[in-house]
Amino acid sequence: MAYQHQYFDGTSIPLPMGKVVCVGRNYAEHARELNNPIPSEPLLFIKPSTSVVSMVDGFRLPVGRGAVHYETEIALLIGSPLSGTVSPADAAAAITGVGLALDLTLRELQDQLKSKGHPWERAKAFDAACPLSPFVQLDQAPALNAIALELKINDELRQQGTSADMITPIVALLQHIAGVFSLLPGDVVITGTPAGVGVLNPGDELELAIPGVLQQASRVLN
Ligand code: ZN
Repeated sequence: MAYQHQYFDGTSIPLPMGKVVCVGRNYAEHARELNNPIPSEPLLFIKPSTSVVSMVDGFRLPVGRGAVHYETEIALLIGSPLSGTVSPADAAAAITGVGLALDLTLRELQDQLKSKGHPWERAKAFDAACPLSPFVQLDQAPALNAIALELKINDELRQQGTSADMITPIVALLQHIAGVFSLLPGDVVITGTPAGVGVLNPGDELELAIPGVLQQASRVLN
């Protein structure tokens, strides 16, 4: 079924699925675990709308292309245009929903691309590379600088973090992105992963949460 943004109560959100703007290495501990330097400004890349699937019904991994890593990330649904120089208030007001994303990554391929200085899209922009949870409206979400996130796989805690630890916090990140790419209603920004990334395996059962706010089960369907 075609992807459509939705809220947790099942209501569909009348916005198109646009692009997904992603930030790499936005948590220092995750940069360290992959032996990557911390960038001097946000490291941005884009996943196309064709990479987005709902995680509600589970998702399939690419086959025969090496290890697929999970990266659990806070996802922001953009509700109004942001372009050029924008104020912190306008950046915050453009967020219409908060949810969770998996930034699926063909890690071995990404390492090869990185070593050649090539773009990462082959490793990060494939079909179903961005499973998204439903969203909660912002007034139900915690303050933007205190959003916790966690991932359990097969009942084992694998990732735990908080937006308080972001190198570039959410509002500043949106301001930065708007100066680079226009954000349009229906676009999604995913905000980087805390430490604990690792390999997904066929049949894995996932439990993603912003504790106290939202909880979403998902699974690898392969
Ligand atoms: Zn990521």
